[in-house]
Amino acid sequence: MALLEVDVKQFISTADGSRRYAWQTVSADEALKIAEPRMRCPECKGAVGLHRRSADDTKPNRAEHKKKNPGCSLGDCFDGVKKLAANPIEPGEESVHG
Ligand SMILES: [Zn+2]
Repeated sequence: MALLEVDVKQFISTADGSRRYAWQTVSADEALKIAEPRMRCPECKGAVGLHRRSADDTKPNRAEHKKKNPGCSLGDCFDGVKKLAANPIEPGEESVHG
């Protein structure tokens, strides 16, 4: 299964009108519009890469883990026990849903 959503780090507007640099969960379609986005998996915080829709349309715009993580339910080799990636990216920072 491919990741249809990813976390990207970017400036976001908060409720009080200020801006801060934070992780935000966006669709792979949105992430593809960003130049050189800093990304991670929304669940296991592992590094991901973006892939464009396949020419025959069998695969959508999507992200894939750079390193397979059996502890991520969003990946294609989930073993049933959720675990962070081996090298999670800023796991202490929550992601904001956009
Ligand atoms: Zn993951």
